Amino acid sequence: MIGCSAPFCNNSTAKGYIVKIFPKNPERRAQWVANMNVENWIPNNRSYLCEVHFSPEMWEQRRDKKPKLKLNAVPTIFGYWLKEKTFKRTEDKVINFVIYTVKIIIVAHFLILCITTGAFNTFSTK
Ligand SMILES: [Zn+2]
Repeated sequence: MIGCSAPFCNNSTAKGYIVKIFPKNPERRAQWVANMNVENWIPNNRSYLCEVHFSPEMWEQRRDKKPKLKLNAVPTIFGYWLKEKTFKRTEDKVINFVIYTVKIIIVAHFLILCITTGAFNTFSTK
């Protein structure tokens, strides 16, 4: 099993992810590490990154449909922010739903109050 070296990522070949070894070219290797934004970390010859860190334009289509990473590809998708963003959006939805429900309950109570106190009858008798 080969695991991903990126922070917040525990994808591996065992989970069905494609993993890419760090480039041997020192410049490209340095670029990969810089994008990862991890302090004091140096990749060794068994360091890999999984497919999720490479945006769609970093891949090329092959005839056999197997995705192949472009020669000059650099990983750009890192960090926990993706998950955080999704979480915040869901949280907002929940809050909006609660506010909406409370409004409906208040209106419903007002209507029930009008009906039970005969507020509508005063209009209809005129
Ligand atoms: Zn990964």
